Amino acid sequence: MVLSNKITDIANFENALRVGLNQKDFHFMYQPIISTKGKGVALEMLVRWKFEGEWVSPVMFIPVLERLQLISVLNRLLVDQLVKDREKLAEKIPELTFLSLNISPYIFKYKEEEGFLEYLLAQLKAHDMEPQHICLEITESSMLTQQAKEFLNDCRRLGFLIAIDDFGTGFSSMSYLVDRSFNVLKMDRSLIHQIMTNPRQYIIAEALVHLSANLDVRLVAEGVETYEQYALLQKLGVDDIQGFYLGKPMFIDDMVSLPMVEKTNEYRNK
Ligand code: C2E
Ligand code: CA
Ligand code: CA
Repeated sequence: MVLSNKITDIANFENALRVGLNQKDFHFMYQPIISTKGKGVALEMLVRWKFEGEWVSPVMFIPVLERLQLISVLNRLLVDQLVKDREKLAEKIPELTFLSLNISPYIFKYKEEEGFLEYLLAQLKAHDMEPQHICLEITESSMLTQQAKEFLNDCRRLGFLIAIDDFGTGFSSMSYLVDRSFNVLKMDRSLIHQIMTNPRQYIIAEALVHLSANLDVRLVAEGVETYEQYALLQKLGVDDIQGFYLGKPMFIDDMVSLPMVEKTNEYRNK
């Protein structure tokens, strides 16, 4: 009985996802990524979806979309929303430098995904946007295949920024640093969440600052939740900071000002 309920639940969830995609009923929030060295602010787009009246974490539904081979539909919705929101975002945030998108690794696996890059380029062109203003975030594990490398190299040649997301959570992180196809490194929050109390996390962060500077890669610290963490990472020389301390993900209509930009300037002046 329990098993059949579970199966019905899964089928129900999957159906709702299909309907959601058909109706384009997916929403996007933006979270600031703030430069410690100037006034620049980037924004990461994070998808949101409601199931039976409740917001469901993308961690729950992205793998299902990937399994159903429907992730390409979401990737295109994301591009459509990006070009639609871009002007409004730039008005709200004059310091806006680039927009960051999460790209599912399945982009390298499915035939349906072929043409994604062309679609993205066409949409950018139609809206007078340049690849230089877009960062594609890819998780470490997805960079393994030859196909992935070729795709990323093409993107780099075209001028896109390429970020390795969740750096430090994979199995052989250091080997990715040899690869030239990326220019942003996003240090996972698990590497910094105990930085105030764990000297080893401090040593690792310090080493990554040196490493990324020497490799000419921009270093972003994710999941920064307190002023103490922020101040320490800024002092260490991390290029950009993202996390609840400086700003939670927001819907575009709720963005009135960016208090965190003032926050960082205030601390810089101390
Ligand atoms: P991610 O790319 O690592 O995104 C950052 C996640 O950390 C977001 O969760 C964000 O809300 C959360 N976060 C940000 N700052 C803090 C902090 O200070 N503390 C804590 N505890 N969490 C923080 P979210 O939005 O639930 O997204 C989860 C994951 O789902 C993302 O992780 C990304 O892998 C995936 N995802 C989100 N949007 C998309 C999308 O449009 N497409 C694809 N393919 N994946 C997406
Ligand atoms: Ca990300
Ligand atoms: Ca991440």
